[in-house]
Amino acid sequence: MTGRTHDVAAITALGALFFFTIGPATTITLSTILVSILANQVGGIAPDIDQPTAPFWHNLPIGGPIGRIVDKLLGGHRFITHSLLGVVLFGLLARLTLTVLQPLIPSVNMILVWLAFMIGLLSHLIMDTFTKEGVPWLLPLPIKFGIPPLRRLRITTGKFVENIIILPGLVALNVLFYTTHYDAVLAIIHRHIQ
Ligand SMILES: [Zn+2]
Repeated sequence: MTGRTHDVAAITALGALFFFTIGPATTITLSTILVSILANQVGGIAPDIDQPTAPFWHNLPIGGPIGRIVDKLLGGHRFITHSLLGVVLFGLLARLTLTVLQPLIPSVNMILVWLAFMIGLLSHLIMDTFTKEGVPWLLPLPIKFGIPPLRRLRITTGKFVENIIILPGLVALNVLFYTTHYDAVLAIIHRHIQ
């Protein structure tokens, strides 16, 4: 999947969790929401740091060469960062980073920020599972899993199905979430500008 689809998938997963489990009626602060969205988007593209051409590296001034080195260190594309082992390692690293940052932004609920990051991360691996390359979920077991199991029925990254069906479908889901919960979203904003 492309970085753009991963971004939208991550925010869709976060929206689904927020509207259908935590619930917009909770007393979540606006700062927690904003930092959570940021963490969610970082989580949504984080596994692709093993790809020298990833948007993450393109946005850095000397990202290309660094990306190639990181690619080698992490075992090449779709290796450790695309596995459950990688999820645990990313999770620990994120937890540590957020604990260090917590005193700087005390109004932010770091548990929710961490959850948002992890949801972005998991959405990435789930989305990649639908692509031709598959995902080595159970590393060090060197097997790449995909849905559906038949490789040629899966999606090719950046091609028709992703661009014409998956991406617009995810955008439509977001529109649905926010229009059906419009009053609740407005209530959160009002609570913070009064
Ligand atoms: Zn990926």
